[in-house]
Amino acid sequence: MDTVSLWQAVLGEIELGVSQGNYVTWFKNTRLLKYKDNQVIIGAPNVFIKQQLERKFNDLINETLQKNGINAEKIEYKILPSSAINRKVQDETVIFDPSSQSPNSGQQSVTQSLNSGSTSSLTHTYRQGINERYSFENFIVGSGNELAYAACQAVAQNPGTKYNPLFLYGGVGIGKTHLIQAVGNMVISNNPAAHIVYVSTEQFVQEFLDAIRYKKNTDFAGYYRGADVLIIDDIQFIAGKEKTQEEFFHTFNALHQANKQIIMTSDTRPKDIPTLTDRLRSRFEWGMAIDMQAPDFETRCAIIQAKASQQNMVLPHDVVEHLASYVQNNIRELEGALNQLLAFCEMRGLEPSAEVAMALLGNTKSRPKHITPKQIIERTAKHFHLSVEDIIGPKRDRDIVVPRQIAMYMLRNELHLSFPKIAKELGRKDHTTAIHSVEKIEKEKVFDEEVRSALAEIKDRLYV
Ligand code: ADP
Ligand code: MG
Repeated sequence: MDTVSLWQAVLGEIELGVSQGNYVTWFKNTRLLKYKDNQVIIGAPNVFIKQQLERKFNDLINETLQKNGINAEKIEYKILPSSAINRKVQDETVIFDPSSQSPNSGQQSVTQSLNSGSTSSLTHTYRQGINERYSFENFIVGSGNELAYAACQAVAQNPGTKYNPLFLYGGVGIGKTHLIQAVGNMVISNNPAAHIVYVSTEQFVQEFLDAIRYKKNTDFAGYYRGADVLIIDDIQFIAGKEKTQEEFFHTFNALHQANKQIIMTSDTRPKDIPTLTDRLRSRFEWGMAIDMQAPDFETRCAIIQAKASQQNMVLPHDVVEHLASYVQNNIRELEGALNQLLAFCEMRGLEPSAEVAMALLGNTKSRPKHITPKQIIERTAKHFHLSVEDIIGPKRDRDIVVPRQIAMYMLRNELHLSFPKIAKELGRKDHTTAIHSVEKIEKEKVFDEEVRSALAEIKDRLYV
């Protein structure tokens, strides 16, 4: 394979594994300059990106190279000459106040190392970062994301008026970035003059550090505080960054007071972000915090069908179902599996079928068939720090009744057991208790976050 296609393959894989913001910021404009005799040289457009790749992403790059057959003993990073950098980089950036380029000592050394004359020094350049590919129209709504979808639409229609800040949290690859970017796109289309700023938290932190280093704090603050809508992705990465938290606190206040919309995502709820200062935590909880869950089987099927039809393909039901049960928790991986299948079929001139899917992806992996009722009951008991005897015994304390109901719900949902069978597993004679319990949890999980997260956690542990 030549260096260009090899690097394409590596980047393709990396894109699946990191956030969109990270990918665009750190990887998009890199090149593979050389690989020979286990030596790899990677080109980066500027010194910041080079440093970031070295410090943070070296392992990821190394692993991904290995997957593509390159065992690099050493990876070197070099700054690309500006002529080699795709001009699109500059088209996509918003230059913030170029007149402030008056030299100061720190600034000069950066500009020199970036080939002087170029205006794309990161100390001055902030990306708007909105990608048109993420819209409400191509987002499939289903269980797990419907609340977040509705809130995002409400915010997009009237930014800054309700749900401020809007805080979405949940696992990787379930559509957080997609939704918040869709808000940005909708606000721009309703009001092209609106100043929308989308930034990954890593990028925010990095820009802030650079701003301090090159004494551009005012530019930095001005840029973020001038936003009509500030969208900041993966805010959990602000954990442990005290100075950045302080800066963000002031940005937050300035925007909130001016009724400007703030939208954040995170992998956990605000109260579980470690080392977040109390004043920020309480602000994150001011507006609306919504948890997003991985979509259920039907929604996953709908997503696959939609993605396939975007590529003018109609897939047979059994193929769709195979894919949907193959990947359960991460839509990005689901898309990856679909694309892998479509590419494979195209190359070999095959029609996509369940057999091909199975041969290519293997059998449905993440849901082993051997989960037993006993395992579910044990898992549930453990989650609530109870014994199995408590759960299947006669006690009627609330602390035990709710976990028992949750165990019944899990038996129904995970194993599709009949109600009489569920009752029997839990040592109950009357199966109507099982019906009521399942219905009750079904309802509660809609509005009770603790129930929802208990279910998700028990399920997660069950399938590891
Ligand atoms: P997160 O930010 O939660 O990690 P992303 O928003 O990056 O996840 O989503 C991963 C991929 O899955 C994206 O390509 C996104 O477009 C797609 N995706 C996620 N949820 C949906 C959905 N409900 N409908 C359509 N595409 C989705
Ligand atoms: Mg994301």
